[in-house]
Amino acid sequence: MKSRTKVVVIGGGIAGCSTLYHLTQEGWNDVVLVERNELTSGTTWHSAAQVTNFGMNQTMVGLKSHSINLYKELSEDPEYPINYHHGDGGIRLANTEAQMDGYRHFASMAKGMNVNFEVIDADECAKRHPLISKNNLLGGLWDPSDGDIDPAQLCQALARRARKAGAEVYRNTPVTALKQKSDDTWTVHTEHGNIDCDIVVNACGYRVNEVGSMMGVHHPVTSMEHQYFLTEDIPEIKTAGHRMPLLRCPISDYYCRQEKNGLLLGFYEQDCKTWGMDGIDPNFVNALCPDDLDRVTDVLEGAFDRMPALMEAGIHTVVNGPITYTIDGAPLVGAIPGKRNAFCIIGLRAGLGEGGGHGWLLAQQIVHGEACYDTWCIDPRRFAGHTNVELTALKAIEDYQNEFRFHFPHEHRPAGRNAKTTPLTPIFAEKGAEFTVVNGWERVDYIKPSKDFKTTLGFKFDEAFDQIKREVKNVQQNVGLCEVNGFNRIEITGSDRHNFLDRIFCGNVKRQTGKVGLGYFLNHHGMLKGEATIANLPQSDRGPARVWYGSAAASEYHDMDWLRQHLNPNDDVQLKSLTNDITILVLAGPNARKVLSACSRGDWSKDAFPWLSLRECFIGIAPATVMGVSFSGELAYEIHIPNASLYAAYLAIQKAGLEFNIKLFGARAVDSMRLEKGFLHWKADILTEFDPFETGLDKFVNMNKNEFIGKEALKNRQSKGCLNRLVSLEISIKNAPAHAGATLSVKNKVIGTVTSGDWGHRINKNIAYAYIKSEYSSIGSEIFVDILGEKINAKIIKSCPYDPNFNIIRS
Ligand SMILES: Cc1cc2nc3c(=O)[nH]c(=O)nc-3n(C[C@H](O)[C@H](O)[C@H](O)COP(=O)(O)OP(=O)(O)OC[C@H]3O[C@@H](n4cnc5c(N)ncnc54)[C@H](O)[C@@H]3O)c2cc1C
Repeated sequence: MKSRTKVVVIGGGIAGCSTLYHLTQEGWNDVVLVERNELTSGTTWHSAAQVTNFGMNQTMVGLKSHSINLYKELSEDPEYPINYHHGDGGIRLANTEAQMDGYRHFASMAKGMNVNFEVIDADECAKRHPLISKNNLLGGLWDPSDGDIDPAQLCQALARRARKAGAEVYRNTPVTALKQKSDDTWTVHTEHGNIDCDIVVNACGYRVNEVGSMMGVHHPVTSMEHQYFLTEDIPEIKTAGHRMPLLRCPISDYYCRQEKNGLLLGFYEQDCKTWGMDGIDPNFVNALCPDDLDRVTDVLEGAFDRMPALMEAGIHTVVNGPITYTIDGAPLVGAIPGKRNAFCIIGLRAGLGEGGGHGWLLAQQIVHGEACYDTWCIDPRRFAGHTNVELTALKAIEDYQNEFRFHFPHEHRPAGRNAKTTPLTPIFAEKGAEFTVVNGWERVDYIKPSKDFKTTLGFKFDEAFDQIKREVKNVQQNVGLCEVNGFNRIEITGSDRHNFLDRIFCGNVKRQTGKVGLGYFLNHHGMLKGEATIANLPQSDRGPARVWYGSAAASEYHDMDWLRQHLNPNDDVQLKSLTNDITILVLAGPNARKVLSACSRGDWSKDAFPWLSLRECFIGIAPATVMGVSFSGELAYEIHIPNASLYAAYLAIQKAGLEFNIKLFGARAVDSMRLEKGFLHWKADILTEFDPFETGLDKFVNMNKNEFIGKEALKNRQSKGCLNRLVSLEISIKNAPAHAGATLSVKNKVIGTVTSGDWGHRINKNIAYAYIKSEYSSIGSEIFVDILGEKINAKIIKSCPYDPNFNIIRS
């Protein structure tokens, strides 16, 4: 066994084997994998091992395409061919129009990744799958590449190729401890000796948190028991003359594929069970949980209804094994938050299908610092400190119960709610708020117009449309109040704070006390990494002169890690998160100044406190910091208040706002307004796949600055011209927005993808942002956008259709 290597991958299931192989593909050959038992002895060996191309966003579709292409290539390797039933085809069933709309949207999105799904009706489903009935069936989504693979052979093939490229695999070598040294490299302690390495990767399946605890972290991953059974031969299959397509059923929560001449039927029962919550027996190796088919009778009934032939088939094997679920259902693949040189590829619930792609994207991140796709949807830093073991279990159960029921737009499921609230949450609830959840925070989505008001889940504009319009109009014509809790806030102190930020940001950093600026930072490839406001607070009885770095609620761990990683040892800079201590009340609308003046001492006139100013003050008796910034495009103030004083501030604002009939507004109104205003959302429109010029952020880049992260790479990209452009679109239909992922085309050629869309209530238009190939991006161009299966006319318009000269914000 080596005593020193570059990377130690811990765990020899599909996650570890794929990572090891892909590290060698990226050119790192001095890498090893350590496995406590034999390869695949965790979950992988007993997987149903279905391999679909279906994903909820383009990154997932792209990584699954990589799996499929790789598996095909491996299966055709004459030296070590493996069993892969590629191209049996698969159907995701639907019995509601809303589900069908979802499939139409996912088909549009996949087209942008060169993947062709088909939305088919019930007759066509039955034609392609001779065993199914059409009862309670509207149709489905057809994935032509669907199939299944031999999991053990797949892992052996990947390990074999990795070994050939120089990697080493140590079986029967349990990792017992992990120690990080002062230079941030690691020592991996195993039962057979220690290995020093630069980087460790946790790929430990259901033992994820045993290994996590060795480095002092808890990963938001829970295991669930998951069962399938195999039937005896079914005569109709024997005589069909072709293999049965796979089935995935959100109506009755099962999947089904052919196994030999019978079927394999897997269940996602409502009466489901977590596994290993109180520790895992060290001897649970190549093992299964006891069968428990009583739990799945509800699911079985649905499957029998759909496939009557099943009722006649004998069951010859039941498999019940642990499967991992994360707090939001998507895996955790990337850097471990708060750690250096530590990565994970965990929480895989469809690891056989996805594992090839996840290992690929992880290896790219390890070797190059970033992958070819934006990997935020699988980034382990997408949550913050609320993801404890109890909350994770609740969400895992909910996700398991809804395995094939995709999330609809604006759907916020009920488990584990109220994880993060402020003193105003119950008050807003009392006033009829519908809440959305942002990184665990309950945030007002909109105010329900009546107590029993409900929306229908779907991809079209819903019943809240008129209420959101009313909220927007009140902000535009009067004054509105909105709480933006959970906004990421890092306090930066020390004499080098501005020089430090100057190294990070690609544009000029505002240094003037009492002023606020917006900035962007890049990764080493010159691509957009993040966005933050830099607010310069004065020295006062509340603290020394300092910066408040503010960014999206979801970015809390991501941004803190990035800042910490780029501190130089001699920098006089201290970073402290205030995210959980401070919240924001936004006062927006033409009467905002009058309300502010009525509840806070001092001169708030335009001259005394212009746009982008900052002042420490009191709102009533509540200490506050007010910033003259606006995401809505109206005259607006962000009022930053410690949570302890929030209620007092709220009462003072409400009292002052009484004569103006101040009203609450929520996140959906904000989203509509920011789209009209040309403002972007991090990780919707701001992605690592594009540079700041492509994103239209030229004015936030200063190429004459001495140095900033990504400058050289950006210069190089700049010299080649923009490949893509972020554009604003006006869409010609009124009943549905263009959802993120919808594909743009001209003459049937795919030319781009929507990133966000909504109705702009002030300009009364259906609008969207999209990245589009530069040659098609001129203003006024007519293109098509595929919305829910229809080719819809769209026109490229100038960015910021509402108040393009920013007169209102400055008023
Ligand atoms: C019944 C069932 C059906 C499934 N069907 C499908 C399907 O159809 N399609 C699909 O894509 N997915 C399916 N899955 C999920 C899929 O099998 C898993 O996502 C995948 O196998 C997880 O692989 P892994 O490498 O993350 O974990 P594992 O396979 O569990 O591998 C982790 C490895 O880490 C090792 N390890 C742990 N601790 C240590 C340590 N301290 N030191 C060294 N090594 C350690 C373990 O021994 C183990 O070998 C199914 C799962 C189940 C349970």
